[in-house]
Amino acid sequence: MMLTGMHVAIIGGDARQLEVIRKLTELDAKLSLVGFDQLAHNFTGATKMYIDEVDFSDIDAIILPVHGTNLEGKIDTVFSNEQIFITEDVLLKTPKHCVVYSGISNSYLDELMKKVNRKYVQLFERDDVAIYNSIPTAEGTIMMVIQHTDFTIHGSRIAVLGLGRVGMTVARTFAALGAKVKVGARRSEHLARITEMGLEPFPLHDLEKEVRDIDVCINTIPTMVVTASVISKMPAHTLIIDLASKPGGTDFRYAEKRGIKALLAPGLPGVVAPKTAGQIIANVLSQLLFHDLTKRKGKA
Ligand code: NAP
Repeated sequence: MMLTGMHVAIIGGDARQLEVIRKLTELDAKLSLVGFDQLAHNFTGATKMYIDEVDFSDIDAIILPVHGTNLEGKIDTVFSNEQIFITEDVLLKTPKHCVVYSGISNSYLDELMKKVNRKYVQLFERDDVAIYNSIPTAEGTIMMVIQHTDFTIHGSRIAVLGLGRVGMTVARTFAALGAKVKVGARRSEHLARITEMGLEPFPLHDLEKEVRDIDVCINTIPTMVVTASVISKMPAHTLIIDLASKPGGTDFRYAEKRGIKALLAPGLPGVVAPKTAGQIIANVLSQLLFHDLTKRKGKA
């Protein structure tokens, strides 16, 4: 599998993007790097440039940072002070087959991509990426629990909320460390799976009752579940780690009022394992780009 003949613009990002650059240059893609002028390292086959120097009419794919842009279309980069914006003008210069990749999207990007009518892929919506990413997420959660408690994970009582891609990995990982893990879910097939995993299932509507004896609560459900009334039933020493995307699923105001430590912990893979997190993106991206390339060649 090679990407010879493919021209990819990588615009902005953090350390994770270095793994993408490394992988795509290995596969012989031609890269235009925007927002990397302060990066000391040079990659053969990759040219650092400013956004107005890119020949977008020749670009087959654009890779945006994991977070995409802000709501004004500005792209963050940790390797440059350049102010970079992705706009309709820029995208309309690209060939019709140009595909745009980011980790997650927002209203600015959704609207822009609709206007310019280019294929747009959000990598973090893919099951494979979410499952691979759940591994560094679980490791980051272990780190946070160790940092914020004075007891071992082994033997502690942990409630995990949600049995999605993150919840399943987190529940399994903490159980493997010897914690007594119970998992709350709303679907009966999830409760069955939790039982099969050797963990204790409970229906989410029993959450208030189930938190009375826990030491740690790990939420993965991106909606308000750890409410004031749930928190009011927890023992005073309970630690709440909320992994769900911002704003999380916890009533942080009430937790603070009650003196219960509650932490929102977004973006753990990029924090605890940027190299692995970058490799996860790089591996999936290179397969998708190869697929784009062969599809286009097949048509030509
Ligand atoms: P997922 O696979 O979609 O799982 C979400 C879980 O939440 C499912 O079990 C789902 O149950 C449950 N759920 C959703 N809405 C619910 C509701 N209204 N009531 C009860 N249960 C509900 O998502 P994921 O990949 O595990 O990700 C979970 C969250 O973690 C997301 O917000 C994601 O952005 C975030 N995340 C954070 C990090 C980090 O570093 N902190 C890393 C990766 C992901 P049903 O199947 O019944 O709907």
